[in-house]
Amino acid sequence: MVHVENGQCGLCSHFGEKKAEPQIFQIRSKKEAAETFTAACGHPKHEALNLLVTANSGCSGFQVAAHQ
Ligand code: SF4
Repeated sequence: MVHVENGQCGLCSHFGEKKAEPQIFQIRSKKEAAETFTAACGHPKHEALNLLVTANSGCSGFQVAAHQ
């Protein structure tokens, strides 16, 4: 497991936003994720590229998810 900090994909509203999966809500509440878990980034600048990110990835498009 990896620790997920503020500013990283696991706590970003765009992480898997097009396909809500239970793991994403667990990651937000526990602030940790399996190293191998990936989700599609729904940020408008990445969506067309089908960017898959791990929970401890990040970018300057981070937006804090509403429910953590
Ligand atoms: S790549 Fe950027 S915009 Fe996409 S989920 Fe991660 S922090 Fe959010």
